[in-house]
Amino acid sequence: MIISRFGETGQQKLKAAHVVVAGIGGLGSPASSYLAAAGAGHLTIIDSQRVELSNLNRQVLHWEPDVGRSKVKSATEKLTAMNSNIKVDAIFEQITSENVDRLTKGVDVVVDGMDNYPTRYLLNEACARNRVPFIHGAVEGLVGQLMTILPGGGPCLKCAIPNEPPKKPCFPVLGATPGVIGCLQAMEAIKLITGVGEPLVGRMLIFNGMDMTFDEIKVNRDPSCQVCGRQDR
Ligand SMILES: [Zn+2]
Repeated sequence: MIISRFGETGQQKLKAAHVVVAGIGGLGSPASSYLAAAGAGHLTIIDSQRVELSNLNRQVLHWEPDVGRSKVKSATEKLTAMNSNIKVDAIFEQITSENVDRLTKGVDVVVDGMDNYPTRYLLNEACARNRVPFIHGAVEGLVGQLMTILPGGGPCLKCAIPNEPPKKPCFPVLGATPGVIGCLQAMEAIKLITGVGEPLVGRMLIFNGMDMTFDEIKVNRDPSCQVCGRQDR
């Protein structure tokens, strides 16, 4: 509350906010933790998977005793223990074209905590349709990327990455990488909710932990984009 331009009003806006964290793994764990700790009043966390031992290097909301439990249940316990004044809705479902509108409509922000592009594209489309800001994040190895998508206000994920990158059955992740990107996703969400600062719109941030660099790639809106091309600016 003593942060300049944030104040008590910013804290109240956070308390009134509803944020969807889609995927409660490597990105969703830090993103939801910092949102909960900051006092984001209503979190909906969505994940259809159960905790596996190999998740624990990066999915820091899940601990050894949670192996085999649903990720949303494990995460809800930790988040509500962290802040008892927030509401956490746990949705143990896979995001599909059938349920994506129901899951994202009317919320303030959607955080991309997915590990695959088909579901990211579904969320990107639903957020454009329902005019919900979408905070994209993705990681592999020691590299991560981040971009904030405002409906009608800049390029969408499909403008930035028109085609799905080649699928890999398994990709390694150093746990601290989604830690960095997930924290930045929480920061972008908090900024959008409170109206503080300049969001990462039209800029893809690339973090490379190998040489510890942050670079930005300018992303233009594609006027013929099948997702956002017809939207009013
Ligand atoms: Zn687009």
